[in-house]
Amino acid sequence: MTRSIRELVLEFFFSHPNQEFEHGPVVDWVTAQWLSEHKMPPRDPWRAIRLLHQEGVLIKVRKGVYKYDPQAVARRELENFTSEQKEEIFRRDHYQCVICGRGREDGVEIHADHIMPKDKGGKAEVVNGQTLCAEHNFRKKNYKQTETGKKMFIRLYELAKSKDDSFIMNFCADILAVFEKYGVNGHIKWKP
Ligand SMILES: [Zn+2]
Repeated sequence: MTRSIRELVLEFFFSHPNQEFEHGPVVDWVTAQWLSEHKMPPRDPWRAIRLLHQEGVLIKVRKGVYKYDPQAVARRELENFTSEQKEEIFRRDHYQCVICGRGREDGVEIHADHIMPKDKGGKAEVVNGQTLCAEHNFRKKNYKQTETGKKMFIRLYELAKSKDDSFIMNFCADILAVFEKYGVNGHIKWKP
């Protein structure tokens, strides 16, 4: 049976636990394995690594460097919600996405999301859970840059406040209100 690119990447990291790897050695090994079973080179093995990182299997040590830490994976799995917790979160939120209010009766899938993400130390507690539709869940997971943006405007607001600069304070407050309006990064709290 041939192995997928994902399976080959996993095989590589599982056999080198807690070792840090750059692009080169992983892709070379995966490519060599792949070519023993296929005529054409594998398509974008690095993408499989990024996806495994997004799923929490691989740790990004720094830009372009990843490792597999079996204990971190086990700890992370401990922080998954149980099906009872998920049900409790959904029930509390009336089975509706807390951002757009849509639910299963609108034909959308709902997810129990960690408000504080697991990789930032968020726990599997009902208070750390919120109901999100598939779309808002996807946005939260994939547009982390918006967090940097929100934090920057919060810092800028505080700086302007310390200088009594109401013009820049209002400018930041308007932008932060847009974050609220769209429900982007609600876990980063800000009050004027
Ligand atoms: Zn939604």
